Amino acid sequence: MKLLIIGCGGVAQVAIKKCCQADDVFTEIMIASRTKSKCDKVAEEMKNKTSAKLFTAQVDAEKVDELCALIKSFNPAAVLNVALPYQDLTIMEACLQCKVDYIDTANYECEDTDDPVWRKNYEKRVKEKGFTAYFDYSYQWDYFEKFKKAGICALLGTGFDPGVTQVFSAYAQKHYFDTIENIDILDCNGGDHGYAFATNFNPEINLREVSANGSYWQDGKWIETKPLEIKREYDFDGVGKKDMYLLHHEEIESLAKNIKGVKRIRFFMTFGKSYIDHMNCLKDVGMLSTQPVNFEGRDIVPIQFLKTLLPDPATLGARTKGKTNIGCIFTGYKDGKKKSVYIYNVCDHQECYKEVGSQAISYTTGVPAMIGAMLVVKGIWKKAGVYNAEEFDPDPYMEALNKYGLPWKVEEDPVLVD
Ligand code: NDP
Repeated sequence: MKLLIIGCGGVAQVAIKKCCQADDVFTEIMIASRTKSKCDKVAEEMKNKTSAKLFTAQVDAEKVDELCALIKSFNPAAVLNVALPYQDLTIMEACLQCKVDYIDTANYECEDTDDPVWRKNYEKRVKEKGFTAYFDYSYQWDYFEKFKKAGICALLGTGFDPGVTQVFSAYAQKHYFDTIENIDILDCNGGDHGYAFATNFNPEINLREVSANGSYWQDGKWIETKPLEIKREYDFDGVGKKDMYLLHHEEIESLAKNIKGVKRIRFFMTFGKSYIDHMNCLKDVGMLSTQPVNFEGRDIVPIQFLKTLLPDPATLGARTKGKTNIGCIFTGYKDGKKKSVYIYNVCDHQECYKEVGSQAISYTTGVPAMIGAMLVVKGIWKKAGVYNAEEFDPDPYMEALNKYGLPWKVEEDPVLVD
């Protein structure tokens, strides 16, 4: 099978290396990104480690015609988008025009939130949906009929969260519950990279997400909170006690739609004091702004300038020590009895580094990206239309997680989050 991978950052590099491991499935891989030299470097590194044939190309994924030309010349079975959420719609559009399956790890975000057309649409959606995040699934779900008519599949959000957390939800629904009432998604990073401040995936996307209002789903509607307003402590297997904060997160929206009968869904992420203090300070001085400011005759976007100062997440691997623990706690009913189950993965930063030269955040996203692409190209997860991970049979994905480096555990009667 031929796979076109777009993007060559921290997550993409793991996805590429894992696709190279699965060279019985991916026989030819085209790596295409804005900066071709990064693609060449990874292709060179993998040359003698895989039987897959590797090709590289330069592409601006915001230009549909460039993408179409590349797709037509390479003729892949699917396109794996591991660039940025800003490019989701142009890549989907190109896949539609070329009738090729599409896979990504994060839902669409608009880069220019000042764009008047986008803003009008955004304000309408805020009223309809009840949360103010700059991202939601509607833009991509709107492609459902077009993808269906074209007979192609879009698998949205196959990273860890979104992604594996939804597969855990489908697995819990299939094997443990008649009805799931509550889902708490807990994302804990117990790793330490030794810097006073760094983000472990793209800084712009990460800081926009964490500094925004939080929200959760309860009794059929969204409840919005101030940024980091809700804090809890949890004792994580493999990591220990950590403070975690409630965030708005995209998979809440699709789980609320697809897990029938669910009453409450929350998402928590752990942060240390240093991270929060730095982020608040940067926010207060305007460094997280996406609006251009004029500096000595040149327009500069503060958060993009900040990105050039911060460590590249793809380089954190060697220095990050500790573990991540990401999973979901479910409560609900089986055979009339109340029960609770926790499904989670523990991943060690240094083990990831030894295997693929990356820290665990890139690893826990890049591996599921490869698994999603693999299930789509093999036809195991293939339906015409646009789908989220919980809308497919979770069993082959769960098996692949064990096989490709993200083994999971199931704990019955775990400690619940209040
Ligand atoms: P990086 O910033 O490290 O990499 C992004 C890559 O996309 C870079 O190679 C960049 O090129 C490329 N790119 C950006 N713009 C364009 C463009 N216009 N055309 C072509 N290529 C472009 O990001 P990460 O690897 O950290 O994150 C990748 C994705 O993974 C993001 O969408 C992020 O939201 C998602 N993610 C998902 C998670 C999950 O669990 N679901 C968790 C973590 C991340 P260049 O090298 O030139 O800058």
